[in-house]
Amino acid sequence: MYLERERAVAIEAVTEACCLCRNVQNRIAGPLTVAKLDASPVTVADFGSQALIISRLRTIFPNDTIIGEEEASLLRREDQQPLKNEVVSLVQLFETDLTEEMILNAIDYGARSGDFRQRYWTLDPIDGTKGFLRGDQYAVALALVEDGQPVLGVLGCPNLPEDDKHSGRGKGMLFIAVKDRGAVMRPLNGGCEQIAHVDSVTDPSNARFCDSVEAAHVAHDQHAKIAGILGISTPAYHIDSQCKYAVVAGGDASIYLRLTPPGYYSCIWDHAAGVAVIREAGGNVTDVYGRTLDFSLGRRLFKNVGVVATNGHLHAAVIAAVQQIL
Ligand code: AMP
Ligand code: MG
Repeated sequence: MYLERERAVAIEAVTEACCLCRNVQNRIAGPLTVAKLDASPVTVADFGSQALIISRLRTIFPNDTIIGEEEASLLRREDQQPLKNEVVSLVQLFETDLTEEMILNAIDYGARSGDFRQRYWTLDPIDGTKGFLRGDQYAVALALVEDGQPVLGVLGCPNLPEDDKHSGRGKGMLFIAVKDRGAVMRPLNGGCEQIAHVDSVTDPSNARFCDSVEAAHVAHDQHAKIAGILGISTPAYHIDSQCKYAVVAGGDASIYLRLTPPGYYSCIWDHAAGVAVIREAGGNVTDVYGRTLDFSLGRRLFKNVGVVATNGHLHAAVIAAVQQIL
């Protein structure tokens, strides 16, 4: 089957990384956080997750390019030894054979460049670090891209569903999609796969729309205006990370809106896995002008502005509403 091995390896790697992230989120209290140079927070779990996933991918696909969000220069600094030791012991809880140098090299492997028009993997080891630190939603997102488009996406969502009281399965979901093979979801700790499919809402006023929690990432006021134009009266579902793609793919929301600040180009790892999952779940993803997202241009989506993801039925209406306020 097309990408069978890649799919299996990606699932194993993301599942293990989700366990590592949970281990940290359960005991996080502040000192495990450091600021990156761009002032976004990064935790031992971001580094640990990237080390685990890249080590595994490199063992099995040694020739593949892997583009990850993090790099290890901070951990190699003299004054950051406690942080480095924390990362190394965390990773070794899961992969005892990995030495400190192997761990740092695996993290740095994700910072190398490559030909983005060829096959490559892209990884967000923790998407939504701010949500992770708040104890809210986050995702481990891994995708394989071919010819500038995601062909495999695995999204680990350790804190979904939000309301697990009635599911009896507890929290932790995995969303998996392979091009032209559909999307499935299943509990993170194993169990049955279910088909993931977008909802069938066709009247925009009945749509539930979701967007970011963080006001610095998106234009909430513009989102509210667009919702108003569409006749949506229920408040937005604010949820961190690519969990937004997951809730649309699973039918828990119909629209994901992302109007980014002027001049901001989104990172490929923030969208590639989610795009694969929504497309295969029957939905549609474009930028705010209705253009296909182009993952062939480098580490960012340099030719796109923002994101609109929908169940497909509502796509044209949402794009039209967005044009009214742009
Ligand atoms: P979300 O939880 O959907 O807001 O997504 C988190 C992602 O937003 C992070 O992984 C960042 O890469 C991305 N991000 C950070 N700063 C900005 C910004 N100023 N505008 C848009 N996205 C951002
Ligand atoms: Mg991210």
